[in-house]
Amino acid sequence: MADFRVLQALRVDGTTRPSPPCSAGGPLMPAIDSPNFETAREIQEERDTHMPYISKSRLMEYAKNPYHLYLKYIRGLREPENRWMRRGSNIHSVFEDYYHNVREAFEETGDVCDDLTIYLPADYTRWMDYTEPFITNFLMFEARRLQRCCDLDDVSLFPAVGIEAEVWDWNQLIPRMGFADVIVEAASLPDFSADTAGVVVIDFKTGKTPPKKYRNDGIFLELEYYALLFEEEYDVAAVGGYYPMNDDFITAESTEKRRSKVERLCQELEDAGTDVDNYPINPGPLCAWGPNEDQKSSFYHICPCKWATESGPGPTFYSDNKESLESGS
Ligand code: SF4
Repeated sequence: MADFRVLQALRVDGTTRPSPPCSAGGPLMPAIDSPNFETAREIQEERDTHMPYISKSRLMEYAKNPYHLYLKYIRGLREPENRWMRRGSNIHSVFEDYYHNVREAFEETGDVCDDLTIYLPADYTRWMDYTEPFITNFLMFEARRLQRCCDLDDVSLFPAVGIEAEVWDWNQLIPRMGFADVIVEAASLPDFSADTAGVVVIDFKTGKTPPKKYRNDGIFLELEYYALLFEEEYDVAAVGGYYPMNDDFITAESTEKRRSKVERLCQELEDAGTDVDNYPINPGPLCAWGPNEDQKSSFYHICPCKWATESGPGPTFYSDNKESLESGS
């Protein structure tokens, strides 16, 4: 049975550990290295298309702000890494190693240790900055899963079925692809009934759990893209997003409406080509959400949008020339 006291102790300990010399955290997650990216580039060259593949993040970027996607993937302007991206990469890499460690240990011993902390990377400087709330909540999520497997008297349900699992749909003019952070047996999740067949594809999200009103065009759309992609290769019972910051696990039922929206957006993106007119500017809170340097889109100063300027929509942090005003209002 999972020992919740060990995890609670980690919660207490985690808040008292000293910060590492580099407060930004440990090493960055290595770039995902798959030969399929090269294949996709060769296909792009042959077919003379404007991008080698469509991914979940590209699709979501296009859905939220087509012009941002244009700057990033058509013009090739790279966004500098910010602290939220760095935190997300670091936490994802810790979770990935944890699942590999669980799987390796299970293959060797046929069992899973109650103290799940032993499966975290041995180099604790990689995760000590994120202990509270991310690592602690994640381990509690996993402990609930282990408890369910113990209740079913089958710990073989616990190790991940897939880790950073990669799926490509090559039957499209522009191939579609996705990496699932982890794929687990549905029966191992207390959110599903014990006799649920198939697997659950899980995406880890290191931001805040989105309010319900934003889910339909956000997380649910992302999950639908994954459902469409992964059901070709796996017996998918559900697709879900886990938010360790708030210990929330969100799953969405697949709907025809969302499915056709994903298909329509993929098709639009495929047809958009390199013409900037096909990538409308869609300003909103993500353009600038505060007056500071790190509180705006990387492209804010080269983008003609008027968000957060004196004459534009939203709060006022900048003049119409996008010069910083002394304080926001
Ligand atoms: S500033 Fe806003 S509208 Fe402009 S590219 Fe960035 S997110 Fe898009």
